[in-house]
Amino acid sequence: MVKAANTRGTTSGTPPRTRVLVVGGGYVGMYTALRLQRMLRPELAREDVEIVVAATDPYMTYQPFLPEAAAGSLSPRHVVVPLRRVLDRCRIVIGEVRSVDHAKRTAMLTTLATDEEGTGAVALAYDELVIAPGSVSRTLPVPGLADHGIGFKTVEEAIGLRNHVIEQMDIASSTRDPAIRDAALTFVFVGGGYAGVEALAELEDMARYTARYYRTIRPEDLKWILVEASDRILPEVGEALGRYAVRELRARNIDVRLGTRLESCEGRVARLSDGSRFPTRTLVWTAGVRPAPLLAATDLPLDARGRLVCTARLSVSGTEHAWAAGDAAAVPDLTASGPDAYCAPNAQHAVRQAAVLAGNLAASLRGEPLREYAHRNAGSVASLGLHKGVAHVYGRKLKGYPAWLMHRAYHLSRVPTLNRKARVLAEWTLSGLFKREIVSLGSLEHPRAEFERAAAPPPSPADPPGASPPADGGGGAPDR
Ligand SMILES: Cc1cc2nc3c(=O)[nH]c(=O)nc-3n(C[C@H](O)[C@H](O)[C@H](O)COP(=O)(O)OP(=O)(O)OC[C@H]3O[C@@H](n4cnc5c(N)ncnc54)[C@H](O)[C@@H]3O)c2cc1C
Repeated sequence: MVKAANTRGTTSGTPPRTRVLVVGGGYVGMYTALRLQRMLRPELAREDVEIVVAATDPYMTYQPFLPEAAAGSLSPRHVVVPLRRVLDRCRIVIGEVRSVDHAKRTAMLTTLATDEEGTGAVALAYDELVIAPGSVSRTLPVPGLADHGIGFKTVEEAIGLRNHVIEQMDIASSTRDPAIRDAALTFVFVGGGYAGVEALAELEDMARYTARYYRTIRPEDLKWILVEASDRILPEVGEALGRYAVRELRARNIDVRLGTRLESCEGRVARLSDGSRFPTRTLVWTAGVRPAPLLAATDLPLDARGRLVCTARLSVSGTEHAWAAGDAAAVPDLTASGPDAYCAPNAQHAVRQAAVLAGNLAASLRGEPLREYAHRNAGSVASLGLHKGVAHVYGRKLKGYPAWLMHRAYHLSRVPTLNRKARVLAEWTLSGLFKREIVSLGSLEHPRAEFERAAAPPPSPADPPGASPPADGGGGAPDR
């Protein structure tokens, strides 16, 4: 029996189904929909309820595996989970929710089809809203950052970065200009949280290994710099392990600069607050996240940091029939002593919040009591490259190989679906037996280049050498 007020009218005389709209197909979106389709099985079978998931991508990304995907230890396909397969009782709409008018229970959405048809955003009515668009990179007004920086939140960025790093080694190995070579072999990462540290550590490991296949590049020629504004890295694993991680990275010749900020990267030169400057073609920005821009285009209450104000029951405060969790939501942390403590934006909370949110939404539809979300942080694990890591879990501190093993075991247990677990395990096993992959498939980003070259008219004898248009349609590879 569905108790939610159905606010959508019908002209056919049959009462419309209660539509649950889930915005976002990440941790919260996918896990909430997954649980809802299990809990609401009878309602879905009777067609009393329908679950619509609106997501920008047809897959959920298991972000903790992005550094391994960048290093080539895991293939990109295995760090994502196809929504259509997992959410087989939901309707999946691939598109971007542009705004939400919760007073009217309507979301405006663009899809590939609306773009093709030129209709603009279309309205999607709902009765219950789960809003979980996550977060985006938090950038600062650093001159040159928007032009030259790259984030590390998506599988596309991770694979693009891998290709880019190997491409820089190709450039360095073939140029005679020492300035170009130096800039190509300098890699600057800004932000010492787990995304930045793991990405740098895995890529450095991969590049050091790859250098053995270049006659003119020694591992010592590569310059890796980690810039962190505070006086520590990896705050998630605690102070002592954070210090250990700094020592471990410095022992690998990685230049860790604490208490330092990036001031500019104009002209592809990273200028730091300690006065140093590094010409570089690689600037990776992982200095925190901010809530998804969609939230500002809703009539839902936001806190000073732009997150949805939520209750511990994961409903949006002061509203009915709106629910939220994850990076986009300010959820009170009931396990903390202070009144103003909120759950940190991490996967640990997102997954557990999704379970409580789905339970509460199903309970509210059935007129049953709701429960509050409370989870005490279990700790964190971080990889520092192959066979190296730090872990602080349930009060136990580990470092080096045991921590790395725990990191793998933990994430293998967490990655969704048996299918993905089996594929990840198979890949790890194979990579233990065979050599690493060292190719850059940067040309994948320009799949038509070869055909365009083939289809181009032959150059006339009058054309001077080099006068033909570039094969990639004029854009060219930005970093050459
Ligand atoms: C590299 C990296 C490593 C990490 N490692 C760890 C770790 O080891 N441990 C840990 O606990 N946490 C880790 N995290 C953090 C963790 O991944 C996030 O906290 C978690 O993904 C938050 O879940 P979410 O559902 O709120 O957002 P997401 O998982 O980001 O999902 C949001 C989804 O909404 C979609 N979306 C956004 N806007 C719209 C829109 N307008 N319309 C439709 N869809 C939209 C997005 O495309 C995305 O698919 C890591 C993050 C990164 C980037």
